[in-house]
Amino acid sequence: MPAYLDFNATTPLDKRVLDRMAEVYTHHFGNADSRTHLYGAQAKELVSEARATIGEILGVGSDDLLFTSGATESNNMAILGLAEYARETGRTHFITTAIEHKSVLGPMKRLERQGFAVDFIAPAPSGRVAVEQVMEKVTDKTLLVSVMQVNSETGVIQPIRELGEALSGTGAYFHVDATQGFGKRNDELRATKYDMLSINAHKLRGPQGVGAFVYRRDAHYRRPPIQPLFCGGQQERGVRPGTTPVALVAGFALAARLAEEESALHLAGCRAIREDFFRAVAGLDYRLNGDPAHCVPSTVNISFAGVDAEGFFVTLKREYAFSNGSACNSDSHELSYVLSAMGLPQSQMEEAVRLSWSHDTRADFAPLADYVRSVV
Ligand code: PLP
Repeated sequence: MPAYLDFNATTPLDKRVLDRMAEVYTHHFGNADSRTHLYGAQAKELVSEARATIGEILGVGSDDLLFTSGATESNNMAILGLAEYARETGRTHFITTAIEHKSVLGPMKRLERQGFAVDFIAPAPSGRVAVEQVMEKVTDKTLLVSVMQVNSETGVIQPIRELGEALSGTGAYFHVDATQGFGKRNDELRATKYDMLSINAHKLRGPQGVGAFVYRRDAHYRRPPIQPLFCGGQQERGVRPGTTPVALVAGFALAARLAEEESALHLAGCRAIREDFFRAVAGLDYRLNGDPAHCVPSTVNISFAGVDAEGFFVTLKREYAFSNGSACNSDSHELSYVLSAMGLPQSQMEEAVRLSWSHDTRADFAPLADYVRSVV
C-alpha cells in the first residue's frame, strides 16, 4: 500500500481505541437514555466518563461539553445556533477568516444570504491571520468571532490565544474550530479564552462520526445562547438530541487521552519525519505554502516549481496517498481557496501538494524527490 500522508483528512484508528470500541459494542450496547435497566445505566456511565475525560483534557467542566456527529456539526451549531439570538438582539455582525474549513464558511455564507453582516478576514501571505485585522472589525453589533486553531491545508497555527485575550470584554463570543489542533496543541487550548470550541475524534486516531461542541459559561454563568439545530429529544440536555453513540464516544475519549499522554512522542516523531522530508527534497526548487515558523510539524504544504500537483498524484499513486487540501474539495480540481486567500500566484497554487503524517508514519521520500527531478 502507498505511504499514507493524508492525516489532516483523517487518521487510521488506533488499535487500542478499536479494541475499546469493540468491547463497548459487545458488552455495553444499551441506550444511554434507557432509564429502567442496567444496560442503560452502564451506557450512561460510559458516556459520563468520556465527557469527564475530554472535559479534563480541555480544562472545561464536563457539563460544558456536548457530543455531536463531528466538527462539521459543532461548527454549524456555533454559528447557525446563534442566528435566532442575533435577530432578537440586533447583534447581527459575524466575523471569521477566509481560510476556515467549509463547515464554518458554509454557515457564515448562509447567514450572509439571510441578511446578516459577515466579515471574512484574509490572512497574510504567511497563512496567519492578524489579530489587529480581526479586532478592527469588532463593533458592539458583533455577536461572534470564529477562528480556527490550526489550518488544515497549510498547518499554520492561528493566534487564538491572543485573539481570546483581545476579545474578552468586548461582548463578542469567540468560537475556535480546534479540529486540527486538538490532541496536538492541548496546552494552547487550555490557555485560551474561548466561549465555544469544535473538535472531533477522527483527526486523532479515534473513530469517524463523533465530535464535541464545548460551550462555556461566562463570568455571569451564562452560556452562549445556542438554539439546537435538531429537535426531538432530551439527549445532551436537549441542545443536541439524538441517541448518543456510546462506543464512538468511548473511543473518542480514549483517543483523546492517548493523544494527550503521548503528545511528546507525537511531536518528536513528526519533527523527525519533517527533517527526513526536507533532507530528501534539499536542492530542489520549491516554495513552502505557509510560514514554517508557525506550522505544526505534521503538515507540509509545498509547491515544486514546474511540477503540477495533479501529475504528482497520478504518477505517485502507488508510492503515496497525499492530496492538495481539504478532502471536501479534493474531488474537484478547483484551486485551493486557502492558498488563494493567502495571495499566492496561480502557478504556485497549481503546484501545491499537502503532506501530513503522524509520529509512526513510515515513508521514503526519495521517489518523490526523484519524480520532481525527472519533471523539471
Ligand atoms: N474543521 C476542520 C479544521 C477540519 O479539518 C475538518 C475536517 O476535515 C472539519 C472541521 C470537519 O470535521 P468532521 O469531519 O468531523 O465533520
